Amino acid sequence: MTTDIISGTGISKVYATATGPLVALDDVSFDIKEGEFISLVGPSGCGKSTLLSILGGLEERSLGDLTIAGGPAGRPRADVGMMFQTSVLFPWRTIRQNVHLPGQILGLDRKRQAERTEELLDMVGLNGFGDRLPGELSGGMRQRVGLARLLAHDPRILMMDEPFGALDEFTRETMNLELLRIWEAMRKTVIFVTHNIGEAVFLSDRVFVMTPRPGRLEGIVEIDLPRPRTTAMMRDPRYSELVFEIRRMLGVDH
Ligand code: ADP
Repeated sequence: MTTDIISGTGISKVYATATGPLVALDDVSFDIKEGEFISLVGPSGCGKSTLLSILGGLEERSLGDLTIAGGPAGRPRADVGMMFQTSVLFPWRTIRQNVHLPGQILGLDRKRQAERTEELLDMVGLNGFGDRLPGELSGGMRQRVGLARLLAHDPRILMMDEPFGALDEFTRETMNLELLRIWEAMRKTVIFVTHNIGEAVFLSDRVFVMTPRPGRLEGIVEIDLPRPRTTAMMRDPRYSELVFEIRRMLGVDH
């Protein structure tokens, strides 16, 4: 039996704003199993980033219980890696040195980390680019560096906030396929934030559907498409059914 790696009960978040308290998350409960690929989907402002930040220990919850890997949550941890829409790379460090950085900060074995950096550059398709500087790379390649850096210290849980959201549709699709290939090989737990319903269905084992009423988890949709996923599956009637089920939950079909 697979165990829960993340368990949240009654999580709420209220921000204090100039115009009064703002409820960003209201009584959100869920369990995530080790190795699952979960997407959080919903319109802008429904609390996806807030929930991810709470899970990643970057933001405090106002109410609720949260357990990660058997322990209490609440601060950034080495077994959780986070990736955002734009990967902030140090412009004066080479690609190799950027990927190497988390391991260096955590004081991991230098030789092992150097080997791992080369493996990861290879895995994300950046073989031969290790000596380049970030300024020489396209947006898609920079996110590949971000992906390699995310994996550098071998975190158990990957939290990704619209990691390919700033890329054009073609590059984004390629990156999604790369991410799935890497996930199939490593089977880490992934929590992936997106407002793209098709992307969420294509990638995930389960989709958490969030609505701004305010910040509610409307429901969880099990994605029963077989793996490994291929782009041809987007023509599968089941794919469309799942997309429309989520659209219905979000109230975007009239
Ligand atoms: P999403 O990621 O789904 O777009 P967010 O989690 O970013 O949504 O935001 C949820 C709500 O909380 C929004 O109304 C947003 O304006 C508000 N919010 C987010 N961060 C803060 C903050 N630091 N202070 C005040 N309000 C915030």
